[in-house]
Amino acid sequence: MTTAELLNSLGLASSSLTGGNLAVHSPLDGAVIACVHEHTVPEVQAAIGRAHGAFTQWRQVPAPRRGELIRLLGDELRANKELLGRLVSIEAGKILAEGTGEVQEMIDICDFAVGLSRQLYGLTIASERPGHRMMETWQPLGVVGVISAFNFPVAVWSWNTALAIVCGDAVVWKPSEKTPLTAMACQALFERAMKKFGDAPAGLSELLIGAREVGEALVDDRRVALVSATGSTRMGRQIGPRVAERFGRSLLELGGNNAIIVAPSADLGMAVRGILFGAIGTAGQRCTSTRRLIAHSGIADELVARLKKAYASAQVGNPLEAHTLVGPLIDKAAFDGMQAALAKARQEGGKVFGGERMLAKEYPDAYYVAPAIVEMPAQTDVVCHETFAPILYVMRYESFHDAVAMQNNVPQGLSSAVFTTDLREAEWFLSAAGSDCGIANVNIGTSGAEIGGAFGGEKETGGGRESGSDAWKVYMRRATNTINYSRELPLAQGIKFGD
Ligand code: NAD
Repeated sequence: MTTAELLNSLGLASSSLTGGNLAVHSPLDGAVIACVHEHTVPEVQAAIGRAHGAFTQWRQVPAPRRGELIRLLGDELRANKELLGRLVSIEAGKILAEGTGEVQEMIDICDFAVGLSRQLYGLTIASERPGHRMMETWQPLGVVGVISAFNFPVAVWSWNTALAIVCGDAVVWKPSEKTPLTAMACQALFERAMKKFGDAPAGLSELLIGAREVGEALVDDRRVALVSATGSTRMGRQIGPRVAERFGRSLLELGGNNAIIVAPSADLGMAVRGILFGAIGTAGQRCTSTRRLIAHSGIADELVARLKKAYASAQVGNPLEAHTLVGPLIDKAAFDGMQAALAKARQEGGKVFGGERMLAKEYPDAYYVAPAIVEMPAQTDVVCHETFAPILYVMRYESFHDAVAMQNNVPQGLSSAVFTTDLREAEWFLSAAGSDCGIANVNIGTSGAEIGGAFGGEKETGGGRESGSDAWKVYMRRATNTINYSRELPLAQGIKFGD
């Protein structure tokens, strides 16, 4: 099936894929696969207006009925899992298993949100006044603006949208300018679900195509109650204060610099598999990719030797081919960033294995690389930055508490893991004095979170939480209600006023 046929089967009209001012390149070979229309600022404002109108109707629809729309979206995703997964591979460069895995994650969050639509529970709180009842209720919030990164081009939208829609909100989505086609396909599937649903208000889900300027128009609009933004810390630093300035709410999911500690008691076979998937999966372009390995000096040599062997046999190539484990980097800028980081690591005393460009003859306009392992003398400056590429820095430790301190001693706080069979180490790692990340795992790598847990991280990762647990609360407003069913009007704190 050609890319054009794939796009048509996902409901995208050929006319929407040509003639626009935004050229879409596939990282597989660098070819232009579409030219789509970029929205103007007045078009952004009109879309927000439509979404706001839809919100005022949708908030009055009972939540379990709202869940029905997400159930129908889940059906569309199930029916189109292979097609959409393939498009993710073509547009973002993931291997097919990861492309369809990302769509599975969308299906999972839809299932979660359908159940949630009957569980948006509040509280009944004991009142100090006689004849009074106090309660806490959760009400729909408004328009949710979603800004997403190229590397999870569809899942992040679904994490936000499935929850926001059952919570009674409307969504305006600005995907990465590098991955507009997968976004257009998602919007087409949402519209199909809307049609089957019947009476959902138009404008409930709006899509904006464009880069920073389009994102800024969304961020600055007072009608957008929540801005949920996923991307680099640089982006979060720009938009966080802008949303705060107008007292909007923001949910920031930013960069990570995730480490795995490997203790002497670890099952090294498991550790190697966990590190391999975390460090080279998605060509190191996950927010949860393993970027640092902190290995006990007693096992570090053996671990690094086994990792180098595993790296050497991991196939780098076209992600649509069956045996490929590592696809391309998204673009030349990502390749240049990787090479700059490796040069800096060398200057800081690092010993580099791998990292060179591959398949340049077959794909002169695409950027395939050999994943790199860099043995560092210490956790130097370059190690403390997130380079969005497959570079694994290796440091050694003697005492476990030093290893945990090193793991925490970076500006980011997304995901972390320890491989150990020592109960004391495992519990320490998960304790108040242990990992300071939003995700802390034992005998599991840093990447590949399940949707049932709240996802996100601390420090420069932004502090937001999405997906499972009680992450839905950020998409709603909380009201405290007190009802007086007595014939008196007692004041709180026993205050007497004018009696
Ligand atoms: P990016 O920051 O370049 O872009 C992300 C999105 O923000 C894009 O849609 C972009 O157009 C938009 N944007 C950028 N500047 C903006 C501004 N000033 N105002 C409004 N919108 C703006 O990130 P990227 O290269 O697409 O993605 C990689 C980054 O995303 C990595 O740092 C990665 O760790 C992070 N990420 C984090 C998570 C998470 O959940 N924590 C998940 C995926 C990716």
